[in-house]
Amino acid sequence: MNLILFGPPGAGKGTQAKHLVKKLDNFQISTGDMLREEIQKDSEIGKKIINDMNDGKFINDEIVNKLIENVIFDPKKKNKLIFDGYPRSLSQAKNLNLLLDSSNQKIDFIFFLNVNKETIINRIEKRKILEKRLDDDVNTILRRYDTYMETTRPVLDFYSKNPNFYEIDGTLKIDEITNKIDAFINV
Ligand code: AMP
Repeated sequence: MNLILFGPPGAGKGTQAKHLVKKLDNFQISTGDMLREEIQKDSEIGKKIINDMNDGKFINDEIVNKLIENVIFDPKKKNKLIFDGYPRSLSQAKNLNLLLDSSNQKIDFIFFLNVNKETIINRIEKRKILEKRLDDDVNTILRRYDTYMETTRPVLDFYSKNPNFYEIDGTLKIDEITNKIDAFINV
């Protein structure tokens, strides 16, 4: 089963992805984590993206799409994908469809975790303390939110027409969201 967790930064995608990884024995595909790893390794990609990442800016599609392509064609991960933070633009969503088609896969569920701006600011402030992420300060959060509204919102319009699309109130407690997801996937 392949799933997409979709929603603004701080919506709880990562938390729910971790739950689903355990429940389904799937893989969390977090482009944010993959990009942070490149920075930690100080790779060529890492050097290119470090400033934009710290500023909360969008990383260019070519870099992100390449990382995703490697994952989709990894036979170990086939039909065990939980996308967290990808796709984030219409061109990424279209690219994902092409890659899935050519690897004989499809998306079974798209969950949109819908959260308002105030909740996001509160949550990310807490995460900043817990995880010490450099892109978690209020100005950066607001910039990431604005980028989401501009660039990622069209992806929502694209996916909301899909019969496998489900909107969930992302301001609910973690367990309540988990229960709703579990009820939809029904395994
Ligand atoms: P996240 O961990 O999903 O909140 O992502 C952290 C940061 O990584 C974002 O603010 C972007 O700079 C970058 N990033 C993650 N995923 C993507 C993506 N799909 N496209 C472009 N940039 C991304």
